[in-house]
Amino acid sequence: MIRFIETLLVDVPTIRPHKLSVATMNTQTLVLIRVLCEDGIEGWGEATTIGGLNYGEESPESVKVNIDTHIAPLMIGMDARNVAAVMAKVRKTIQGNRFAKCALETALLDAQARRLNIPLSELLGGRLRDALPVAWTLASGDTQKDIAEAEQMLELRRHRIFKLKIGLRPVADDVAHVLAIKKALGDAASVRVDVNQAWSELDAANGIAALEAGGIDLIEQPIRAENRSGLARLAARFAVPIMADEALHGPLSAFEFAKENGADVFAVKIAQSGGLVPSQQVAAIAQLAGIGLYGGTMLEGAVGTAASAHVFSTFADLTFGTELFGPLLLTEEILSTPLEYRDFMLQVPTGPGLGIEIDHDKLARMRR
Ligand SMILES: [Mg+2]
Repeated sequence: MIRFIETLLVDVPTIRPHKLSVATMNTQTLVLIRVLCEDGIEGWGEATTIGGLNYGEESPESVKVNIDTHIAPLMIGMDARNVAAVMAKVRKTIQGNRFAKCALETALLDAQARRLNIPLSELLGGRLRDALPVAWTLASGDTQKDIAEAEQMLELRRHRIFKLKIGLRPVADDVAHVLAIKKALGDAASVRVDVNQAWSELDAANGIAALEAGGIDLIEQPIRAENRSGLARLAARFAVPIMADEALHGPLSAFEFAKENGADVFAVKIAQSGGLVPSQQVAAIAQLAGIGLYGGTMLEGAVGTAASAHVFSTFADLTFGTELFGPLLLTEEILSTPLEYRDFMLQVPTGPGLGIEIDHDKLARMRR
């Protein structure tokens, strides 16, 4: 039986300013969910988002209020071992709130997998890989700083895929910035861009032509999420893969994209999908439609990152890798043993549930 649900907000400074077209982050607010069950088993989930309300339609504070006031009371007293029934009730009763639903489903599945003494991935059908390639985001805004940071990551064998956040400056300036980095790194690295919706369709047509010619490997959400037909036109026009990110809100929008040949690649995010099972549905739709997969992040800390890793480890195809670097952007560790990054890969945890242990004392000191 589900006895108690707690939502914790934890503000953690980032290791450097993280500059996106929608916000500059100096702190990340982790939204952590703890579900305590009658049998003493505890499960954890995460509903972290980017830049307050700059990126998504749920803020850390709104997630907490909505769970505490509206969602947790529906769940208390239900059978914790029947995760599907609990989530069916929540999904039927509560509109939207995909981040909150994802965190709650994660916590319930974590608890159930611990109960069964198996890794969460095995509850989701089973993993196909034990390690995931992880991209690093270069977002200092300064070309030379970004090159130095990328070279250091290559040297450390931590990342060889680099995603550049652009869209704030004029298109020509952004293109020059990206191509200078690509030229400096050469074939040792895959260089990709994320415009976070900042370009008009005309800007995108010009910008993507130049980026494609310069050897850039992937173009993420160049135009407004609402302009689905525009993204489809860009995908048809260019050979370089065009990826949908902000436009993708779970299985139904994945299905619409698939019907319209709307994108070459999906950035699957567990929170944007509304949960772990819905993100597997997004992946299944992509694979049936011949759309490539990339494992995205909302810059979650260790809990959401571990949950994402378990889900992405079950995808039959993960051609474009992942960007599960969230914990590496933070100055504080909330696990007693950090997640393991080595040889350009995140190791998918192998212990029961999420396979991580929260440092309770540290969290008690850091929470709001
Ligand atoms: Mg993105």
